[in-house]
Amino acid sequence: MDLSDFDRQHIWHPYTSMTDPLPTYTVESARGVRIRLSDGRELIDGMSSWWSVIHGYNHPALNEAVRGQLARVAHVMFGGFTHGPAVGLARRLVEMTPAPLDRVFFSDSGSVAVEVAIKMALQYWSATGRPGRRRLLTIRGGYHGDTLGAMSVCDPVSGMHSLFTGALPRQLFAPRPRTRFGQPLEAGDLDQLEQLLDQHQEEIAALILEPVVQGAGGMWFYSADWLAGAAQLCRAHDVLLIADEIASGFGRTGRLFACEHAGAVPDILCLGKALTGGYMSLGATLTTPRIAEGISGAGGVLMHGPTFMANPLATAVAERSMDLLLESPWQSRVRALQSQMELELARYRDHPLVADVRVLGGIGVVETTRTVPVARAQRALVEAGIWLRPFGSLIYMMPPYVIEAAELSRLTAGVGAALDTML
Ligand SMILES: *Cc1c(COP(=O)(O)O)cnc(C)c1O
Repeated sequence: MDLSDFDRQHIWHPYTSMTDPLPTYTVESARGVRIRLSDGRELIDGMSSWWSVIHGYNHPALNEAVRGQLARVAHVMFGGFTHGPAVGLARRLVEMTPAPLDRVFFSDSGSVAVEVAIKMALQYWSATGRPGRRRLLTIRGGYHGDTLGAMSVCDPVSGMHSLFTGALPRQLFAPRPRTRFGQPLEAGDLDQLEQLLDQHQEEIAALILEPVVQGAGGMWFYSADWLAGAAQLCRAHDVLLIADEIASGFGRTGRLFACEHAGAVPDILCLGKALTGGYMSLGATLTTPRIAEGISGAGGVLMHGPTFMANPLATAVAERSMDLLLESPWQSRVRALQSQMELELARYRDHPLVADVRVLGGIGVVETTRTVPVARAQRALVEAGIWLRPFGSLIYMMPPYVIEAAELSRLTAGVGAALDTML
């Protein structure tokens, strides 16, 4: 039995059926922006393995960071111990993120970073004498992860809340911002958010959202003015702001963090994905002295402590990944990705199956008028020598920052191959 036969019978893949799974392709190795399959074919990567592999695969400096740490210690508990990589990474994150975000919690993954953020907000209010503030406010079209708390703030439709009725906390949902990125705020676009804040002020612990770029919930880019307005409304209502930058962080939108487009500083910030350059799973939740001191002012402790907290291998590779990013000309690289995708994806605007084309930073999206047949489109893309993974009615790309112009052209051309499978 070859690998993919065993895989098909025994192993779940993301969001797939165990009885009728989508096909998988067996990876042999990868280097730079190229993924080599076991049958020898080579694919140009347009997904950065879901936002994370920003520096490319098999990077010598990241490999060296893992090897160096491996020779010292691969893991040690964080209860009672600390170590160089954890401190080094925290120091970098404090420097990179806007003040006053300077308290850092490390966890296993993005979803857990979101759970920790939610717990921080809830514990803050109960410790400061407002235990009624238990609910979260969010916007439709969001994606915050797959654990139960995170799922409760994902879009109720695309997040399939109906499957979990009764098991998820019932949160408050404002509409998805209508105003597109780069546009001044449309009149009325913040009204429903404001109404919910007015009506439920004493129940709401925090507004949680993905700043500017909504990722897996629909790849929507909304106005920075909207975000600035929402941040202002939070302040006026004494509601905390949680920014989930797990996808948008580390330069992907053209700013180091997407919040910077609006000059907004959240009370709590969630990071993950590109944090380790895609080498392994790691999440971080940052907050301010006000929140940290609120939680612990009356002797309280933050009630979270995963087994692999601040894992030395993960924090060591993340530390190196942050240095690589900051030492690289990431701004000009992302700007170049943006202009090339704007130019080359524009040709699909008039395609009969295309509803919208949008580009922001290193993210290019072609939205189709109906659902893309994933297995068929995927086969055509692989045959064209590229790796894109459409979902729903979205064909999109967020390639590693190090991709070359000619390789990016192959990706943008591949969108046509995927569209052809829909004809
Ligand atoms: C991917 C993602 C998460 C979840 O991260 P995992 O590491 O998959 O648990 C949360 N929020 C956003 C915005 C994401 O893109």
